Amino acid sequence: DAKSHGRNSLRFFSLAIREALSQRVSLARDLRTAVENGELRDYYQPIINLQSGLIVKAEALMRWQHPTRGLISPALFIPVAEETGDIMAMGHWIFQQAAQHALQWQAWMGDEFAISVNKSPVQFVEQLTKQYDCLEALRDMGLDGKRIVVEITEGLLLNPDPVVEQRLLQFRDRGIQVAIDDFGTGYSSLSYLNKFDIDYLKIDQSFTRNLNAGNQSYVLCEAIIVMAHKLGLKVIAEGVETALQRDLLLDIHCDYAQGFFYSPPVPADVFAQMLVQQSRQAVISPRKRVLKA
Ligand code: C2E
Ligand code: MG
Ligand code: MG
Ligand code: MG
Repeated sequence: DAKSHGRNSLRFFSLAIREALSQRVSLARDLRTAVENGELRDYYQPIINLQSGLIVKAEALMRWQHPTRGLISPALFIPVAEETGDIMAMGHWIFQQAAQHALQWQAWMGDEFAISVNKSPVQFVEQLTKQYDCLEALRDMGLDGKRIVVEITEGLLLNPDPVVEQRLLQFRDRGIQVAIDDFGTGYSSLSYLNKFDIDYLKIDQSFTRNLNAGNQSYVLCEAIIVMAHKLGLKVIAEGVETALQRDLLLDIHCDYAQGFFYSPPVPADVFAQMLVQQSRQAVISPRKRVLKA
């Protein structure tokens, strides 16, 4: 009957919650040693210039090679790392990896080349003096700041802390670029676009997924792109999975695309091979720049 059914589903529900909680607790415990045990992996997803069809940038995305659970998605462990504070050490680690690879790969790449690194809002509350270290590291490495893009979300700029503002100015001083990630899913207050020096808007994949000629997503994307271009920003469409989506994005003058249609995130050595292959193709036949999906 309905009553016992309700009790059963309630029991199921609380079991599910308990299960989720205990998973979170054990993830939190294991995360503490993930950096020092060398369990983190840096993956790179190509970002393509829509006009040329060439890989011109990449986004660094973190993975966790858990000793018993295998490769874990950041959607699972980043929120836990934000709560425990481990995101700080993890953020430093991936920043270093990305910067070192940018240094290696820039020789093969044109002037647009940069690697994006995601930063959670909590990574901005760190002591400014400590944050400065990663900028020092860039200088020690001899890497031009313009080879790094920091991806932040809209929420960070809505009611910005003075520390956040100062931090963004420091980035700017070093030539580091800034992108608004998942654009269109947050508050989409446009006032911050005026206030801060932003370089890129990344259109969220929920818009890209629903793109069809003339539909609502298409109109929204087009409006975002027109606005961005008038403000001097470039636009990256995330989650491009089909040739149709690519064609529609080209129609509305989107600058860059990123998604499974081109490539999923891959380990650094695989990404390097894609760059080698691309530069060979360019030598053999400059007009036939077709990327293998
Ligand atoms: P994000 O920064 O918006 O990254 C894009 C996500 O979309 C990535 O998921 C990527 O694998 C996925 N993606 C790319 N192309 C496609 C596509 O065509 N279709 C679909 N369905 N998905 C696609 P991922 O790697 O699982 O990362 C999830 C989120 O975790 C990221 O979203 C970012 O917010 C966060 N994250 C990842 N790495 C880091 C990091 O190093 N630091 C911080 N703070 N956050 C990170
Ligand atoms: Mg991102
Ligand atoms: Mg995104
Ligand atoms: Mg995101």
